[in-house]
Amino acid sequence: MGYISLYRKYRPQTFDEVVGQDVWVSILRNSIIRGKVSHAYIFSGPRGIGKTSLARIFAKALNCEKGPTPSPCNKCRSCVTITNGTSLDVVEIDGASNRGIDEIRELKDKINLHPAYSRYKVYIIDEVHMLTQEAFSALLKTLEEPPANVVFIMATTDLFKVPSTIRSRAMVFNFSKIYPVEMFSRLRFITEKEHIDISDSDLMRVARDADGSMRDALVVLEQLATYTGGKVSSEDVDRLVSALSVHSVLPLLEHIQMSDWTFGLEFVGDFLRRGGSPYTFIKGLRFALWYLLLSYHVSDVDGLLNVTKDESEGLKRFGSIWKEGALWDAINILDDAYERVYRGNDPSTVLGITWASLLKVLGVKKEKDITRITGGEQEENATRDRGDMGVARLMDALLGRNVTLYALLGIAKEVSISDNVLKIIFEREYRFAYELLTEGENRLELESVLGELFSSEVGLDVGIEGIVEPVEQEVVKGNVIREVISIFGGELLAFRNLEEGEEYD
Ligand SMILES: [Zn+2]
Repeated sequence: MGYISLYRKYRPQTFDEVVGQDVWVSILRNSIIRGKVSHAYIFSGPRGIGKTSLARIFAKALNCEKGPTPSPCNKCRSCVTITNGTSLDVVEIDGASNRGIDEIRELKDKINLHPAYSRYKVYIIDEVHMLTQEAFSALLKTLEEPPANVVFIMATTDLFKVPSTIRSRAMVFNFSKIYPVEMFSRLRFITEKEHIDISDSDLMRVARDADGSMRDALVVLEQLATYTGGKVSSEDVDRLVSALSVHSVLPLLEHIQMSDWTFGLEFVGDFLRRGGSPYTFIKGLRFALWYLLLSYHVSDVDGLLNVTKDESEGLKRFGSIWKEGALWDAINILDDAYERVYRGNDPSTVLGITWASLLKVLGVKKEKDITRITGGEQEENATRDRGDMGVARLMDALLGRNVTLYALLGIAKEVSISDNVLKIIFEREYRFAYELLTEGENRLELESVLGELFSSEVGLDVGIEGIVEPVEQEVVKGNVIREVISIFGGELLAFRNLEEGEEYD
């Protein structure tokens, strides 16, 4: 016998095995017990949560030789042929692959024929929203005058693309994503059967990361089992899920608290070199900080975020170290970083800045110690004389308004205000900070903050240590755009950043 994927092997075969859809399962069960079966159902919900599996179980329940029964036997001819997809009376149509017109036409021709050997003819139409207009019209005709003993089960990930005329003639079940705890028990059942050795917290990460889809979770679990030979470590899981483990995040939190620049920058460099995704880093840290923030308000954070016992023990050590406001700032920094990576900024630069920014808001050392760490005492005294009050006001304002700017100024070797000019000098190795600060958006924001804070106009002088000539400002900084233009030709007419999901018009 050929190899069977975990997803197919552990596809639920009875109502009891269906995970996370209790309401709908009990409605379907009751409708069979009471003999109140409708002609048409729509199972709507995200992918990978068991819509078609449940449709098949319902078909078995209707047609089992021992039924109709809420507990189909899975042994009779009807049950077996439905399970392996060869039933003559349970027809599956994939709306996505051929858009259905031929099938629906054929269905119209044959629909009045009696089932071959079952009580009901059941049509399971997957991705029904993908059907063509003609197929929908044909389907609607049959739904308007459904022959007895025909049941339609239509599955869709996009309910509102199904015409309302169809929707109004069907019972609509809105399936929800499967909660990680519910998924966890099923995954644990499977790892025990399959002898896959994986810790509770790593298995929970797989469940959390699947975002409600059992199929996704099983695909990841299978990959892990295959390339580890069944003994799965945290590092293996790090490679496949989208957030660093709590176990990997804890040392990061420790070094943030210690204001340790080197640890984080080395970690980031090493992590990216090994092929880690910047999103994995950002999401791992964000998850931990979100946990700590919620702990201020929610009594059962472990339950809410599906955190295992050993993860929670690790995190709780940081429980009261950071104030709520600082945690908010840190989470904003991470969201900002996510956005920057998403927009195509260089990941190592973004993560470097992110690390620096996190030290600013969560490090125990005071801002001064860090800001002037490269400046030396003499310079510190010199810049303190005049304008230092102004710099302090500026930093306060930036912290509340734009943490990226705050961190960039924090990295600078010199920040001073004199003769109504804000002077910012970076060391050569922080050229990226110079570039970020002078890129359109950040510069404009800084100028507008200056305008609000100070009554007289304050100019801006940003430079790199030892370089006298100001670096030319370019209209477009994005390498991506330059590359696109070089490949496709053309010229740049307008430039704006789109929000996620927004389309260019
Ligand atoms: Zn049966």
